[in-house]
Amino acid sequence: MNPFSLAGRTALVTGANTGIGQAIAVAMDRAGAKVICAGRRSCVETVSQLSEGREIILDLADPMAARDVFSEEPIDILVNNAGIIRRSDAVDFSEADWDEVMDVNLKAVFFTSQAFGRALLKREAGGCIVNIASLLSFQGGIRVASYTAAKHGVAGVTRILANEWAAKGINVNAIAPGYIATNNTEALRDDPDRNSAILERIPAGRWGEANDIGETAVFLASPAAKYIHGAILNVDGGWLGR
Ligand code: NAP
Repeated sequence: MNPFSLAGRTALVTGANTGIGQAIAVAMDRAGAKVICAGRRSCVETVSQLSEGREIILDLADPMAARDVFSEEPIDILVNNAGIIRRSDAVDFSEADWDEVMDVNLKAVFFTSQAFGRALLKREAGGCIVNIASLLSFQGGIRVASYTAAKHGVAGVTRILANEWAAKGINVNAIAPGYIATNNTEALRDDPDRNSAILERIPAGRWGEANDIGETAVFLASPAAKYIHGAILNVDGGWLGR
């Protein structure tokens, strides 16, 4: 048996229409999984790249939106990837920008995981959750108060769920991506000063690609990672070690 294979498993990836979520869906498909691509809008572009998969509409601005998704068919792997960012100086940060980010990036991560965990426990089946955290699960960042608070929260939620569910055969881990070239970081790459300051600090000397995260997600969801629980794995070109 190939310990890195996802053959025979079904994965649900949130925010799978673009960026890191799309790369995770494609990488899991290549590793043998059937992938359900969840998006607040169509994931048809991602589904067209899969050998076996389909899409569902899931708008996680309602953090309870996934409450019934996991009772419909057996799902083995959940990737909580969907996320948004709002930038503003702390003194001007609005309640709306706080609440919107906390709902999608943290509250939905917990309650989607809760729905998934309930379904697994009912089936008495093992499974796996991969959360997408951030460097801002460890660092403060600047002008992104709600994003930093939410991503610190994702690290905590990853650990508490691992503590409660590891003995039930459910692996809960997170990936902390560094600076990855996606829509989320377009504003940074478009600013020449920020772009060169970021690149100078990355030991690997390049922006990450979405597929760098896709392959890591496959690893964390695979049998090779079965004894990994509550880990937050930095995939950052060496940024945090510097
Ligand atoms: P992205 O291209 O902006 O993708 C974000 C995804 O989340 C999109 O599919 C987006 O859908 C979806 N989404 C947003 N709000 C949603 C909602 N209410 N319901 C369902 N889906 C929603 O950015 P990305 O870089 O791939 O981000 C993916 C994850 O990685 C996020 O959690 C982000 O915080 C994290 N991350 C990214 C980086 C980076 O450098 N890029 C670094 C650390 C962590 P739409 O296309 O409809 O907006």
